[in-house]
Amino acid sequence: MKIHILLGPPGSGKGTQAKRLLGKFRLAHLSTGDILRDAVSKGTDLGLTVKTVMAEGKLVDDTTINRLVFERLENESSDVLFDGYPRTLQQAEALQAFMTEKSVRLGRVVHINVPHQALENRVIRRRVCTNSDCGAIYHLDNKPPKVSDVCDLCSSPLKHRSDDTSEAFRKRMEEFNATFLPLVAFYISSPGFVHFDGNQNSEDVFTALQPLFTETH
Ligand code: ADP
Repeated sequence: MKIHILLGPPGSGKGTQAKRLLGKFRLAHLSTGDILRDAVSKGTDLGLTVKTVMAEGKLVDDTTINRLVFERLENESSDVLFDGYPRTLQQAEALQAFMTEKSVRLGRVVHINVPHQALENRVIRRRVCTNSDCGAIYHLDNKPPKVSDVCDLCSSPLKHRSDDTSEAFRKRMEEFNATFLPLVAFYISSPGFVHFDGNQNSEDVFTALQPLFTETH
């Protein structure tokens, strides 16, 4: 088993590209944001604990997140693509310890780089499918649904994420800026690490990303 990691700010396209890569390569997807949002929408204990923190754009505590991720990994045998994890140095260190213990290898670590000015519009105009098994991602200008507020793929209603407001976005960027450099420093010397230009349209990003996952790492 191998772990690949997508790193990047909110709105950099991690979720969109992760979904595309899954359609092409045999990978399991682990998005902590999707798992948490699912817990919130189902009203589980975890969901009730994290609901306010998430809506404010703050980070959920490391202990909760690490436990959630390691529980998922225990039952996984295929290679895994992480999107939204790790997000702090503490999470990266805990993941490394877990991987060493379980003899799991690190594959690609892709830093999707997008200028910060471009991100707010991507996030504010983003709409997502409410069906957690689908989770398709739209943008009102760049990738609008064929029918307003309806998912092209599964016909479920679309929604505007509660943390995709200007205020929550600014908080998420603050959190990102406070945690990101140590995270990059942690991974930059890994053989699979790569800086990647995410400031292109989604198709071009996907085309350029694919070779990274076909090479052996
Ligand atoms: P984005 O990358 O667009 O900000 P995500 O879907 O990855 O969105 O995460 C949404 C929210 O879920 C975060 O703002 C945070 O509250 C919580 N979250 C997700 N992943 C983590 C994590 N690894 N550590 C802490 N909080 C997390």
